[in-house]
Amino acid sequence: MPVTTGLHHVTAIAGDPQANADFYVGLLGLRFVKRTVNHDDTGTYHFYFGDYEGTPGTNVTFFPWTERGRRGEFGAGQTRAIAYRIPVAAVDYWVDRLETNGVAVERAERFGEPVLRFEDPDGIGLELVAAGGESPAVPWPDGPVPADRQLQGFHSVTLAVESLGPTADVLTDVLGFEEDGTEDGRHRYRSGPGGFAAVVDLVETDADRGRMGVGTVHHVAFRAESVAELREFRTAYHERDIRTSDIVDRSYFHALYAREPGGVLFELSTPEPGFTADEALADLGSSLVLPEWLEADREAIEAQLPAFDGPTVPGDG
Ligand code: ZN
Repeated sequence: MPVTTGLHHVTAIAGDPQANADFYVGLLGLRFVKRTVNHDDTGTYHFYFGDYEGTPGTNVTFFPWTERGRRGEFGAGQTRAIAYRIPVAAVDYWVDRLETNGVAVERAERFGEPVLRFEDPDGIGLELVAAGGESPAVPWPDGPVPADRQLQGFHSVTLAVESLGPTADVLTDVLGFEEDGTEDGRHRYRSGPGGFAAVVDLVETDADRGRMGVGTVHHVAFRAESVAELREFRTAYHERDIRTSDIVDRSYFHALYAREPGGVLFELSTPEPGFTADEALADLGSSLVLPEWLEADREAIEAQLPAFDGPTVPGDG
């Protein structure tokens, strides 16, 4: 049975693209690693933010539906928080940076690690977890945050479900996660190899099923080694009578989708070909990239897209 090594990316629905990029690039200091459009809805941007190289396990991606987009409603079957790792010595830096820029921060401690909780401009739950250990995330040398304070890829996601069992079974029996403790109703799972960005927390909620829209997470993607391994995961889902997509080409990775019984859309994604498939490393995210089959329509596509001037950094005036 294949085993995922952890998170690959998380994709969410934002409102205004400008506010979204200003927050994730300008304030949080993630690098803009790809600026493209939703291939199925070319009037909507698709933004990818991550470490300098867009390393799997560091990337949060958004479809900014603009302020006219339908608001989502948080509920069962949704991601309650996306957590990034920060260095232990960076906690006070981040409290100060966030509060100075008008973001309310709540301090907590969880499984012995300091946690900062806050929301992005659309109400998506974010956390910074001061975790020790090594991270493969590559600092962005020209970023607005000093290299030794930058986000170091994902720590975890927290999924809210009506009841633990069905989702836990998919994590353990299909994806290869193992139980790793419980604290205050939070059930922690860690992917078998116990590496980077390898934690999923499950919490139970009394809320009704959520509704996808602005301010909610669309799906959570886990790492698969290869297309061959995606086929093995597909078989593992089917053996549990869970429907999947076909294996699809997402330009920067190959992907397989399945909605787990608790309602969360799971994806599995390969590391290849990565974000340098259509841009040089130094240029990632600097201009609008379209797949070949849309390039002929570039002018019309650009004319339809909402206003967006590129990310602004606080203090740049
Ligand atoms: Zn995805």
